[in-house]
Amino acid sequence: MTAAPHASSSAPRNSAAAAPITVARGDGIGPEIMEATLALLREAGARLEVEEIEIGEKVYLRGVSAGIEPSAWESLRRTKVFLKAPITTPQGGGFKSLNVTTRKTLGLYANVRPCMSYHPFVDTKQPAMDVVIVRENEEDLYAGIEHRQTDEVHQCLKLITRPGCEKIMRYAFEYARRNGRKKVTCFTKDNIMKLTDGLFHKVFDEVAKEYPDLANEHWIVDIGAAKLADSPAQFDVIVMPNLYGDILSDVAAEVAGSVGLAGSANIGQHAAMFEAIHGSAPRRAGQDLANPSGLMLASVMMLVHLGQADVATRVHNAWLRTIEDGVHTYDIFNHSVSTRKVGTKDFARAVVARLGQSPQTLKPVAYQAGEPFLAPQAGPTRAARKELLGVDVFLHWDQPGRSPAALGARLKALDTHGLKLKMITNRGVKVYPDGFPETFCTDHWRCRFLSATEGSPISHMQVIALLQSFAAAGLDFIKTEHLCAFDGERGYSLGQGE
Ligand code: NAD
Repeated sequence: MTAAPHASSSAPRNSAAAAPITVARGDGIGPEIMEATLALLREAGARLEVEEIEIGEKVYLRGVSAGIEPSAWESLRRTKVFLKAPITTPQGGGFKSLNVTTRKTLGLYANVRPCMSYHPFVDTKQPAMDVVIVRENEEDLYAGIEHRQTDEVHQCLKLITRPGCEKIMRYAFEYARRNGRKKVTCFTKDNIMKLTDGLFHKVFDEVAKEYPDLANEHWIVDIGAAKLADSPAQFDVIVMPNLYGDILSDVAAEVAGSVGLAGSANIGQHAAMFEAIHGSAPRRAGQDLANPSGLMLASVMMLVHLGQADVATRVHNAWLRTIEDGVHTYDIFNHSVSTRKVGTKDFARAVVARLGQSPQTLKPVAYQAGEPFLAPQAGPTRAARKELLGVDVFLHWDQPGRSPAALGARLKALDTHGLKLKMITNRGVKVYPDGFPETFCTDHWRCRFLSATEGSPISHMQVIALLQSFAAAGLDFIKTEHLCAFDGERGYSLGQGE
């Protein structure tokens, strides 16, 4: 068993003083599992000063679409540490995910999810599993920038930034080093997304060189995911972009035993949030049934973050001993290993009764009091020499027959102000010139223009003049993307045959 994530700069330096934290009891099973967790922390002697805020369903239904009021933000900005129970996100209708909002607003860029098995005490498909997933938390498709552009086409922007990659890679490698891990693995799909996932992979390789004591490797996410589900023992720490990390950390937690057992930390430079990975399980609410373990283990990560390694060790070992003694909630109860089926409150009482004890079969934990760990930041970005080489103009065009040749001819007839039509693609497939009649075409076309003088830069004024020609011809352009080179290196993907 290894230690939980290290403290960021938000961790108090004097661990003997009570640490202010903000607590939200959440929705569904949230209030019950939070009560159980706070009771355990009190009995264990955690030095905490709790400020409570209300977030979630009640706030949404009062008409606050973000699910959180300004006064709650004030508390979070003051305490910088958030212990959060799950909340219900109302379906549809303008409600934003409070989790995504909180992570991004507070800059909580690293989502750390330890997924481990408690074999033979909890049924698991993978007895030897002990993996920590470090998920990038702020970028990727979760930027939430989406547009409907034509009758047929909707778009979601995938944003990957160099500072975002640097922060998460440094976090993953520092985490591994400080927690006695041996290897960091990166999952991406850079065989397809060569620029975005390509950057994630490239920065992983760069940062890996600074950690020669740690092994490193990269897997394409599809086969990586299959291996994670089938043979997780070959992984140690895995760092991933936001979407893959979101999906695969749930898969990993479930493969390990149950989503009800896993806690997570969301770490940033200024604040940190700790929560169970599961949701508010509304069907189980109010029945004293839910397993509070995910939130309890999240609170252990919080105690380590706050510099209270002694209390974290006591709580975690008592929890391990409870699991080992077969005192289990319904979700992990199994006649062959469980000795007592308990509800939320009795489970908490059982852990409290074991404070001071350690597991006998499972490995006990021993968190070390240490220097607070500053959540890594990215270095300054060097400005490259940037040249504008062309422009992709995206069109909403839906003439009968959707003939790429007809569109090509129409564009060739425009005054293109020193630019030359290079190709037209539809959903990324080249359809002009030399397209295949079999290719399915939507009403969304990308028209690539480069300088008429091969390889020479173009000006913004030429782009504007080109768009004026489009507008004058009644062509409905819906967006442009500039084709740039940075220090002479192409900053855009090529179309087929280019
Ligand atoms: P869920 O994780 O709430 O529950 C799925 C099922 O898992 C439950 O029906 C239950 O059988 C089991 N389960 C989950 N946690 C358990 C626990 N602690 N003890 C015992 N069994 C447990 O997922 P869902 O039903 O898809 O989502 C319900 C709501 O939670 C939705 O509104 C969703 O948006 C929200 N949600 C919130 C968070 C969060 O606040 N971090 C995360 C995920 C989902």
